[in-house]
Amino acid sequence: MTTHQDGNAGRASATARTVSVDVVVVGAGTSGCYAAATVADAGYDVVVVERKDETEAGHIACGDALKGASDFPEAIPKSQLEPAFTNTGVDHGRFEIPQEDTVLEIPVPGELAVIDRWEYGRCLIDGANDSGVEFHYDTVVQDVLQDDSGCVTGVKAMRKGDPVTYEGDMVIDGAGALSILQDKTDLEDATFDTNVQYSQFCSAYREIIEVDEPVEWDDALVFKPTERSAGYLWYFPRTDTEINAGLGFQMNEEPMELVDDLKRDLQGRSEFEGAEVQDKLGAALPTRRPYDSAVAPGFMAVGDAAGHVNPTTGGGIAGAAYAGTYAAEQAIEAIESGRADDEAALWEYNERVMDHFGARYAALDVYNIFTTAYDVDDLMALLAALPGEKLAEALYGGSTSIGLGLKLKMAVKSIGHLGTIRDLYQTKKAADRLLDHYESYPSDRSGFESWQRERDSIMDDIYEVTGAEPKY
Ligand SMILES: Cc1cc2nc3c(=O)[nH]c(=O)nc-3n(C[C@H](O)[C@H](O)[C@H](O)COP(=O)(O)OP(=O)(O)OC[C@H]3O[C@@H](n4cnc5c(N)ncnc54)[C@H](O)[C@@H]3O)c2cc1C
Repeated sequence: MTTHQDGNAGRASATARTVSVDVVVVGAGTSGCYAAATVADAGYDVVVVERKDETEAGHIACGDALKGASDFPEAIPKSQLEPAFTNTGVDHGRFEIPQEDTVLEIPVPGELAVIDRWEYGRCLIDGANDSGVEFHYDTVVQDVLQDDSGCVTGVKAMRKGDPVTYEGDMVIDGAGALSILQDKTDLEDATFDTNVQYSQFCSAYREIIEVDEPVEWDDALVFKPTERSAGYLWYFPRTDTEINAGLGFQMNEEPMELVDDLKRDLQGRSEFEGAEVQDKLGAALPTRRPYDSAVAPGFMAVGDAAGHVNPTTGGGIAGAAYAGTYAAEQAIEAIESGRADDEAALWEYNERVMDHFGARYAALDVYNIFTTAYDVDDLMALLAALPGEKLAEALYGGSTSIGLGLKLKMAVKSIGHLGTIRDLYQTKKAADRLLDHYESYPSDRSGFESWQRERDSIMDDIYEVTGAEPKY
């Protein structure tokens, strides 16, 4: 890593410092840490620029549910994260449906842990540190540098009032939801997805709550619909006496009073009598399809900054870990071939994301779109009628098949909601079509525009079937 200072006589606070590395990563979250560790493991110079101070870094608003960590990329091994796993005994979801006076117990497929998220954040940073990554804390990125051809060449930041410029062959944007870097970059000539609006995000808030008596449901993730559609409350047990309680709503809905609504629900539950709040945090998260393309010359976006979140559960840690790794691997390949400024040399990153989880998340988003167009009571009645295993498959897999016998049983249980069932069935068919289409994501940049056109036409059918407002 090379650094130098451009003298600015007499005003130390205005001294411009330049840091030159191979790869600049913005954000010390999950995506940034995996990306940076992967770059460092390959022997390249990398710096992570993080706006928080060293103590606060890794303290991220989250429900603390971590899925599938045993398969996470090796750049930061699971053994290094395990000290943050506070509850590995969770094996099912508990869906409370007050409107129907029903509780559904639904198995959660695969490995699941509830974690101490701040500790997990510190473990990630320690893991990247061990690989040789340098962290610059207290440093807020404010602008992006591009050369005459539009290639991103670095970022401009402020560190405690002092300007610092970071230069690199590649800038990886891991700055989370609604990243400022994308506002500051001219992406007009790139494939990079700029069809991003606040209404495709969820606003969410959580508290860490301590109770004296152990809760009975410490082996379950508890979900409950909020009073409006397209929102849910959760209670995730870090331990049997420490609970992550939170809620969120899609930002195309009328805003919820997150703090008050959570308080009201907590007050209505006897297990939280006398509970103490240990920590409070809120943030936005993308509940939308992944970016169509997250590459531009010299620039890649990962994790929340590229919509890599399961839009039905809000789970984004896994997507961030994989995307960070895939982007870094592609960046290294492009740097080695001297083509970091060529979008085509970065394309395989898009493909790997779509292939691994992006296609599935895009199909799941169809169900989000569906819920925005329906009455919450109708949907809850339908949910109560759905078989648990099938619901779990739908939540995590993006698709499920329901046999005729089950369909009939559901129909009998939810008589009065048959119209919604019919629409849901049509929506499922459209989601399957979309999934098929994403599975043929173009293997190079040349097929991209026609792929997008076909996708948009499938989306038009989805809006017609659901009657929902277009989301993109
Ligand atoms: C309330 C809530 C609950 C959630 N629950 C879960 C859950 O239970 N399970 C799950 O898997 N996912 C959950 N998610 C989603 C998950 O937290 C994210 O998907 C994940 O953290 C994304 O990681 P990331 O590295 O992309 O971004 P982040 O973790 O957001 O990290 C971004 C980093 O960039 C830094 N940064 C931002 N701007 C700048 C700047 N200008 N300059 C320098 N640094 C900057 C930030 O300080 C931060 O450290 C939840 C999200 C929210 C909001």
